[in-house]
Amino acid sequence: MPPAHPFDDDKLKEECGVFGVIGVADAANFVALGLHALQHRGQEAGGIVSYHPDHGFNNARRFGYVRDNFTSQSLMQTLPGPLAIGHVRYSTAGAKGAAIRDVQPFFGEFAMGGAAIAHNGNLTNADSLRRELIERGSIFQSSSDSECIIHLMARSLQRNIPERMEDALRRVEGAFSIVAMTRTKLIGVRDPMGVRPLVLGRIGDGWVLSSETCALDIIGAEYVREIEPGEMVVISEKKGIESLRPFRPQPPKFCIFEHVYFSRPDSIIGGRSVYETRRQIGVELARETPVEADLVCPVPDSGTPAAIGFAHESGIPFGMGIIRNQYMGRTFIEPTEQIRNMGVRLKLNVNRALIQGKRVVLVDDSVVRGTTSRKIKEMILDAGAAEVHFRIASPPTAWPCFYGVDTPQREKLLAATMTEEEMREYLSVDSLKFISLDGLYRAVGEAQGRNAKCPQHCDACFSGEYPVEPSDMIQKGFRLKAAE
Ligand code: SF4
Repeated sequence: MPPAHPFDDDKLKEECGVFGVIGVADAANFVALGLHALQHRGQEAGGIVSYHPDHGFNNARRFGYVRDNFTSQSLMQTLPGPLAIGHVRYSTAGAKGAAIRDVQPFFGEFAMGGAAIAHNGNLTNADSLRRELIERGSIFQSSSDSECIIHLMARSLQRNIPERMEDALRRVEGAFSIVAMTRTKLIGVRDPMGVRPLVLGRIGDGWVLSSETCALDIIGAEYVREIEPGEMVVISEKKGIESLRPFRPQPPKFCIFEHVYFSRPDSIIGGRSVYETRRQIGVELARETPVEADLVCPVPDSGTPAAIGFAHESGIPFGMGIIRNQYMGRTFIEPTEQIRNMGVRLKLNVNRALIQGKRVVLVDDSVVRGTTSRKIKEMILDAGAAEVHFRIASPPTAWPCFYGVDTPQREKLLAATMTEEEMREYLSVDSLKFISLDGLYRAVGEAQGRNAKCPQHCDACFSGEYPVEPSDMIQKGFRLKAAE
């Protein structure tokens, strides 16, 4: 599967996707399909664990795309049983480009039986927990923050695995949407603020947990509901679904960037179509930042719904002024500045006949380092555009994310060091405008905009207001906004 955005190297990178199924024959096949639909959430590696009463737990973890690994019959035959979970990852904690031991799901053997877990998100106190656990004798196998959960479970004195998991998760801080399994149970948990998504689906007599609804569609499962912030569901074939509330309730802080970029446009979040939200972001953007122009072009593919909304609201015609090479993988793209610049031309081409002589509005989802925005602007001008106006479907990204998204260090974020006018000059465009935070909140369904006293979402990468203090990072010298 190609990356979700042609400039993968100048975008925030989501994290991970999790998926689990109970109560169907050969559950691992469904998990492989689900992970394939979640591939945009992590392309580095994937893994599946299954359980069969006669064959016990089995697992396969591989680097690369799901379609290149989990489609072989010989591999899938090694993952039998009616219960399976899986994970796709782009490493957000632990070593980048790491060893296979960092690939999830992680597995632990406890006195009462085995358990496997797959985690989407990032724990903000994992360093201190790891130090404490190692001092007390835990032997870590990986560099992943998620492994702390297995060790905390091992140390719990509770009688069964779900209770041990509750114990463990009360010790961790940060963002987690977890899909886990025992021999007989599928377990789903969201952190008290519900930063990362997790949904429940039904397939025949079986149940499904997934990061996004698009992965329910691929296996023909019916969407039931979201797992609520702070909720833990324990699903077994015998008892069905049990819903628990193991944490102290907190105001929800779902990641607002899921709406802007991370989730697939065909997913449903909070009862709203992601595509429709993105189109609405374009509508708000056109209202807030009008411009005289001849053509609205998306930066494909993630800018497309917002560009459609912008064109509709402004009355400026929409056109595909930039065409993506669908077959361009990541293979050629090495992370050096020189090759990154070449990479833009390898992945995208300008539709010269359409944009020549036109005043072009380019709609993109975000500006991170700005390197690719500059390159696109050059391509558009080289092809004969009269003017280039950037309109960005998110506020300036000025702060790193510590909740499961890979962001460059703060100094590398263009908006961390420049004003909007300085960014416009740096990009050398006729105008550059971002949607406001209030406009973004309106687009995601908050009619009154952002509640400044208690924001309805996590928006820390724009506002610098972190709903969970990133304690490990503060110890490493990161300065919060209040400390600046
Ligand atoms: S900091 Fe940004 S990307 Fe990270 S969880 Fe919050 S809104 Fe999402």
